Amino acid sequence: MRLRYWTALLVLGGITFVVSTQWDRQPQEEAALSDSAPAPVQSGDEPKSAPIQTDDPVTVSAVPSTEMPPQPDDAVIWTQVIGTGDSLSGLLSEAGLDTDASTEVTGAIGSQYDLRRLKPGHSLTLTIAPDGLPRTATLEIEDGTRILATFGAVPSVQKMAPDLDSVRRAGEAKIQSSIYAALDDADIPTRFATDLELILAGTFDLRTALSGGESIRLLWREYRSGDRVVGEPTIDFAQLDLADGRYEILWPDDTSRQTRIYKDGHLVQTFDQPIRGARLSSAFGQRMHPIHGYMRMHSGVDFAAGQGAVVAATQSGKITFMGERSGYGLLVEMEHEGGTNTLYAHLSAVNEDLQVGQRVAAGTGIGQVGSTGTSTAPHLHYEVRVDGQPVSPLADTRLRGPGGGAQAGASLVLMDSMQSELDRLLGSRG
Ligand SMILES: [Zn+2]
Repeated sequence: MRLRYWTALLVLGGITFVVSTQWDRQPQEEAALSDSAPAPVQSGDEPKSAPIQTDDPVTVSAVPSTEMPPQPDDAVIWTQVIGTGDSLSGLLSEAGLDTDASTEVTGAIGSQYDLRRLKPGHSLTLTIAPDGLPRTATLEIEDGTRILATFGAVPSVQKMAPDLDSVRRAGEAKIQSSIYAALDDADIPTRFATDLELILAGTFDLRTALSGGESIRLLWREYRSGDRVVGEPTIDFAQLDLADGRYEILWPDDTSRQTRIYKDGHLVQTFDQPIRGARLSSAFGQRMHPIHGYMRMHSGVDFAAGQGAVVAATQSGKITFMGERSGYGLLVEMEHEGGTNTLYAHLSAVNEDLQVGQRVAAGTGIGQVGSTGTSTAPHLHYEVRVDGQPVSPLADTRLRGPGGGAQAGASLVLMDSMQSELDRLLGSRG
């Protein structure tokens, strides 16, 4: 059964919303996003506070009672921190669920989280009705993200973002031997060296462009839960002073799908990507294959994104294929002007309101991120083909508009705010 409900995480200005909706009602990505997060569905009697009932107090972890959803008097809340060697099915059986109920819980949570990644320290909470059937199951993972499955008449699964503060950081470094070493010396997350290399790959080769003495200034977000830094930081803006001029890179914020690269204040490159706010995780070209273990051609670029994130058409065009295709897994292929095609692979679901042959506008939600086909974890493989041959999506110019349009105005405002924030955080130097 394909779940009709899907979820997406949307971070706007540091505030995270959980969005949950249905393909069959709102096919457009734009229409699907709303400002309000629906409350988890509670079945049964009118919810009111109840003490935790359990047969085995030893298994109850110290979860603050304020985090417990209110339950009718007769429901039992069972919670346990996952230990070494525990499996989800083992824990569900310990909680007293029968095989059918256990399968239902595993399937629901597994639809939003790869259960092979389950590890000690995660926690599982169940509310169980007097008839022994689960009402809700919540898995909390290491970064505080919760996967909440609700059962009964209206089943749903939601992925809920942790309550995190996003904190803006800035740093600068002088490049001597490599960008990586420069960032490391300046206490800037070294993963940004990869972000820079990946995004500049369509403009110039960063490694050969450096001769030493260049400087770099970066703006990024890190995420905190209380005093603790959690998850991976997100790079937002970079200023790179090279021998031939100043390059500025503006990555998309969480409402945008476009990266822009400027040289001495002039736009030299734009890149329309299929997922809002996402960052590249793998380059086009020769690479060591993560599964096959030998050098082979990577025919597209990969984006890091969570299971279920909305994948949008990068340009307007016609859908030419939707379905399974060997290593690509669940795939959507589109045809655009000038013999250009785009492919969106490893999806967990496609927008079932769309059909092969249909024309869709840029930005239309066509599917959701998954890990189908030859894939080790949820991500999007995005491929651009010209006359049937894969080309680098970052270097191809055929898909690219003039760099104007609706996104341009917003980008200029964003660019201004990034530049002044960088100056402010580093201490203005004019
Ligand atoms: Zn790929």
